[in-house]
Amino acid sequence: MEQFTNYIDGQWVTSDQSTRNVNPSNVDDVIGEFARANAEQTIQAVRAARAAFRMWSFSTPQQRFDLLDQTGSAILERKAELGRLLAREEGKTLPEAIGEVGRAAQIFKFFAGEALRIGGEVISSVRPGMTVEVTREPLGVIGLISPWNFPIAIPAWKIAPALAYGNCMVIKPADLVPASTWELINILCDAGAPPGVVNLVMGRGSVVGDALVNSPDVDAISFTGSVWTGRAIGAKCFETGKKVQLEMGGKNPMVVLDDAELSVAVEACINGAFYSTGQRCTASSRLIVTEGIHDRFVDAMKNRMQALRVGDALSEGTHIGPVVDERQLQQNERYVAIAREEGGQVFGGERLEQASRGFFMAPALVTGTTPTMRINREEVFGPVASVIKVKDYEEALWVANDTEFGLSAGICTASLAHATHFRRHVEAGMVMVNTATAGVDYHVPFGGRKGSSYGPREQGTYAREFYTTVKTAYINPGAV
Ligand code: NAD
Repeated sequence: MEQFTNYIDGQWVTSDQSTRNVNPSNVDDVIGEFARANAEQTIQAVRAARAAFRMWSFSTPQQRFDLLDQTGSAILERKAELGRLLAREEGKTLPEAIGEVGRAAQIFKFFAGEALRIGGEVISSVRPGMTVEVTREPLGVIGLISPWNFPIAIPAWKIAPALAYGNCMVIKPADLVPASTWELINILCDAGAPPGVVNLVMGRGSVVGDALVNSPDVDAISFTGSVWTGRAIGAKCFETGKKVQLEMGGKNPMVVLDDAELSVAVEACINGAFYSTGQRCTASSRLIVTEGIHDRFVDAMKNRMQALRVGDALSEGTHIGPVVDERQLQQNERYVAIAREEGGQVFGGERLEQASRGFFMAPALVTGTTPTMRINREEVFGPVASVIKVKDYEEALWVANDTEFGLSAGICTASLAHATHFRRHVEAGMVMVNTATAGVDYHVPFGGRKGSSYGPREQGTYAREFYTTVKTAYINPGAV
């Protein structure tokens, strides 16, 4: 069995314990044994990052550009192989996985460019002869904590800006899917990342994650994951005075109005709700449909769902891969049962047997639901969407905003007036018109409002708000 170790201070370092990474399409396929770091190793990684910061924070934009650009190129060269690995460990389909790897590469290329564009401002002082300069400096050591559903894109969109702006980092990938992040760190190492600048500590959130969050030598934490973990981390960061960025869950609404083009609405909802097995924080989990189109929409969705093939993530023709593990599959089943008990009618949603032993589930559409049902208030994180019938646009908007989350929201309509009003009034960080709530560009800000996010946005030029700190300098040229 292949063994994969942590990367600390430029060395590959083993641990006493390990985690077995298995393929959710076929649990007999083992990807490898991944070292599980302890708290002491995590602290060693933080110390190495702190020591390297003195040098890396003064590296030239060219050095940072070269590292990130070469990393992006290497990822692109190995796109097919890395996509296969990602599909094997996480379970999204091969095309989805290859797409995610491509996105990771583009993110590195984008931030390579950003390293060259770190500017500042010169402002006239209100005092005679004085000049004011506002510049950005790196923060220091950043702890990066990522979830299992985007095993390479999320690490990429945290690592690339951390390095571009001159920080050193320690990443802890999700325990379930360490292989893609391991490969990414290996690529960064081959591309010439100096020792200590880039560190990988794999293992448990309660051990490695906790050690990062509590370490006084970590200046900031960028976390993506569930609401409860995020809030607990946020509170600890506040206690220890760390800057923190939290990207958490969603219960994203997709509004379908009477005047929507039915085929466009159905494709947006099928994609948003069920692709990537519904395991996206931006998944459309609440389909809010006005009464004039409701019955036609539900019939068309059911027809379309019957054509979706659930199967092995690596098999050609699979539309929906497996659920990530047994625990998540049981959670999905529990929510489907709760929806039924609360009066919803469930189409699909059953556990499926396949040739291999995996975690397969048919997509589920729950109709006849109301906004107060648990299925419409809590994140399921699986291929489960519910339909809420509403009278008109005004009620649809009210229901869309009736949630503690605010990540992504969509509307399908032919009305420019409604689309414009929705864009302005929906309480979400991202709004989609006539397209799925999931699926975003790599060069623009990503993030939400309310319970979904806390702190500055990730990605695009907005990432620098988190990864840098501002310095205001007053310069008196003295007597001339
Ligand atoms: P999770 O909260 O269980 O774990 C996320 C990460 O936190 C993992 O690496 C985990 O090991 C670590 N962790 C767990 N306990 C910790 C602790 N006490 N201290 C420090 N770290 C700890 O989430 P998950 O199940 O991996 O991911 C699914 C969740 O992620 C969903 O809620 C989904 O909506 C969310 N998500 C959000 C976004 C976004 O950008 N908003 C993107 C993807 C996923």
